[in-house]
Amino acid sequence: MQKYKNLLLIFAVMLSVSGCWQRKPAIVKSGTIEVMGTFANVVATADDKETARIAVRAAIEKLHYVDELMSDYDPESELSKLNQHGYDKPIKVSDDLLHVLKSAVEFSRISDGAFDVTIGPVVDLWRSAGEKGKTPTAEQIAQAKSKTGYRKLIIDDENSTVRFAVKGMRLDLGAIAKGYSIDLAIDAMRDKGAIGAMVDVGGDIRCFGNPSGKSYWRIGLQDHRKQGQILLVLKLNDAAVATSGDYQRFVVIDDQQHSHIMNPEKADSAMELSSVTVVAPAAMQADALATAVTVMGAESGMRLIETVDGAETLLVPNSDELAFIHTKGIAKYIDTDFNPDTYSSPSKVTK
Ligand code: AMP
Ligand code: MG
Repeated sequence: MQKYKNLLLIFAVMLSVSGCWQRKPAIVKSGTIEVMGTFANVVATADDKETARIAVRAAIEKLHYVDELMSDYDPESELSKLNQHGYDKPIKVSDDLLHVLKSAVEFSRISDGAFDVTIGPVVDLWRSAGEKGKTPTAEQIAQAKSKTGYRKLIIDDENSTVRFAVKGMRLDLGAIAKGYSIDLAIDAMRDKGAIGAMVDVGGDIRCFGNPSGKSYWRIGLQDHRKQGQILLVLKLNDAAVATSGDYQRFVVIDDQQHSHIMNPEKADSAMELSSVTVVAPAAMQADALATAVTVMGAESGMRLIETVDGAETLLVPNSDELAFIHTKGIAKYIDTDFNPDTYSSPSKVTK
């Protein structure tokens, strides 16, 4: 009997070593969904298909939830209501909006004002300048600038209210809300029992666990000069990545390109860097920091990233020659086997 027991034990060990003992995790993909004015993709792995499906559904719900709160297209969103009435009286806001605004102020503080969600009036000015094809006057720029500045955002933590110090202020969460929605979606998937997941909203991505027996997700970095071309591949697990760039959204006035990312100090667009990728533990952090570094430029931007735990950055300067500037620690994420000519598709692309 003992002999059979031993044989059984050996057989069991062989099965588990060969991987046959455990079932392969089930993978469920959302397919492309439209949310926050961009495209999103969600993938979950779980012990069984139903769990993975529930996790994906929970993640999508979170993405739509944040969109409903923080959209500036929807006049009924919580953010729009705050923008409409924030100067008249203190406005009570949800815990989620309060959290994002408090975090935004913290990012403003550490970036010395380079990141600033009160940038709305300046964004509006340049958008309408682009439509008219006419550079704004110094007076218009000064006017718009007077309605910005994160210190003019009055947050009452105890009463969960927000108020604007100056008339005409407008909050723009375009550089942080996507990241926040991804973090909520990832948390929801963990709660629902996913053992691995990836959420991509407009190229901002967070992932954990493994996609298919590997210990990482492969995330391609889009070549800013050529759609569909990958510059390099990052191997990530339990991390987020976001890229801010001047090459996809900009206006051209008198042959001059103006990026959608604004330097709050100058009330004009930030143009030193073509693309800024930030890897960080959470997606809101990666999202906000990528925007902040774009404004700050290579030198102070890298200095900022070096002060943030677990954050790394890779920058592509705005020049004819392709070049990279990066923090030392990014090397551990770069797939050294990647060959741009023969690559197999990465899991996702950050752009
Ligand atoms: P991202 O693609 O994450 O870099 O976000 C860019 C968007 O954030 C822009 O389209 C604006 O809506 C907004 N934005 C522009 N400049 C800034 C800034 N300096 N700080 C925060 N948000 C900004
Ligand atoms: Mg951002």
